[in-house]
Amino acid sequence: MKPENRIAERIKSISDTLPGGVTLIAVSKYHPAEAIMQAYEGGQREFGESKAQDLKAKHAALPKDIKWHFIGHLQSNKIKYIAPFIHLIHSIDSYRLLQEIDRHGEKNSRKIGCLLQIHIAQEESKFGFTPEECVAMLDEEQWRALQHVEIRGLMCMASNTDDERQIAEEFARVHELFKEIKRRHFANDDRFCILSAGMSDDYPIAIEHGSTHIRIGSSIFNVNR
Ligand SMILES: *Cc1c(COP(=O)(O)O)cnc(C)c1O
Repeated sequence: MKPENRIAERIKSISDTLPGGVTLIAVSKYHPAEAIMQAYEGGQREFGESKAQDLKAKHAALPKDIKWHFIGHLQSNKIKYIAPFIHLIHSIDSYRLLQEIDRHGEKNSRKIGCLLQIHIAQEESKFGFTPEECVAMLDEEQWRALQHVEIRGLMCMASNTDDERQIAEEFARVHELFKEIKRRHFANDDRFCILSAGMSDDYPIAIEHGSTHIRIGSSIFNVNR
């Protein structure tokens, strides 16, 4: 690691505070391959992107042992760009999308890991299932027939607010939902074990409420932070 590698230093200082069992995903959206390589040289191997075409280009250009996470809103016509290599798609917001991903998984002879995105924040614009919609979709059991997707857990974003009590309450609600769904639908499935929650400004609160995967962008890559 070069002495001036600030990105790797920031990753190390965040990683050093994380309890065991929490995975740091470096969210590299909007940042060039060179910035990702600085993180890589510091040992980081899991990265998150929110645009399918950008992700395809970065995957082609960068080392093949990187695990790529897709964290943005995914349109069906963009699945093809990421299906051959994606490690985990965090943003499933409809059964239809899950079916489409299954189709691409079959084409690529692989199983694609997926998280169900839960809409919990107050903002209207955020995507995702409501908790009720999510449980209803799982209760229908149709997803069990999909052979090329693996539902690995849940993902959420808290409201964009300074009110830490509200953020904590939202993360706590998703954690309860996660445990309920685990009990009800995945009791015998060890693969359902991921709760993706927490970003630069709220990840310590998310970890207090069961997060296993935090998605950190600006605290790592923004030069001015
Ligand atoms: C951009 C983004 C992040 C990272 O946010 P920061 O506040 O920059 O850490 C995490 N999750 C999702 C879904 C994002 O779009």
